Amino acid sequence: MTTVLCTHRLTMGDVDAVQVYAPNYFRWMEQSTQELLEALGHPLMEIIRRGFGTPAVKAVCEYFSPVGLGDVLEWTTGISRAGTSSFDVSHEFRCGGRDVARGLMTHVWTDVSSGQRPVPVPDWLRAAVMAAVPALPGSVPGVLLSTCSECGRVAYPAEEECLACGAIPVASQSGADAKLVTWTTVHQPPPGFTAPYVLGWAELADAPVPVLGRLTAADAQIKALRAGMPLRVTTASGPPGLLLLEVSA
Ligand SMILES: [Zn+2]
Repeated sequence: MTTVLCTHRLTMGDVDAVQVYAPNYFRWMEQSTQELLEALGHPLMEIIRRGFGTPAVKAVCEYFSPVGLGDVLEWTTGISRAGTSSFDVSHEFRCGGRDVARGLMTHVWTDVSSGQRPVPVPDWLRAAVMAAVPALPGSVPGVLLSTCSECGRVAYPAEEECLACGAIPVASQSGADAKLVTWTTVHQPPPGFTAPYVLGWAELADAPVPVLGRLTAADAQIKALRAGMPLRVTTASGPPGLLLLEVSA
């Protein structure tokens, strides 16, 4: 797993009157991304010299806890996804053992000479992703979506290229909240599943895409299923990758 660990003691230039000046996190993400490319054996200067660019098309940061002057910020940076011509770099910021912020930047691999036209990400970068994504224990909330920045199409499963207009969408994780639309009991299971089980169709609260998954609920709750009831959608790690719809009531 190739990640880089960076540390930085906060100085007067980094803080406002109270705490870290929020946009600074993006500078640090940019800095550690450059360190990461260096660690992967492909310094940014070499990438540029070879005629490629890595412009950012999305940058987000969530802030969990304030940090201030004199604090030592520590963060880990790794490539968390590679699509056809875009890739995500994830950043986990900590301070004194606390998680203080989490950032993600999506970059596009481009051919500079053709006016920054997106081109396939190189194999070494794709390989770095494979190694950098550890098997998650249990399951993660939500599903991986893609949103097209050109036409606005939201897709699940996430698309590497927008099926409507061909632009490169950006990936994001949805929230877990959903509502049950309809359901059915499966008696003839595919390999790897034990029948009977209940397959549900749900609507995510924060994205206009339907998702299909196995309902996890006690027998009594299964008997009391009704359209519109709240669910939590989680993606189970590893195969077979069927979503879990947990009855939350
Ligand atoms: Zn589109």
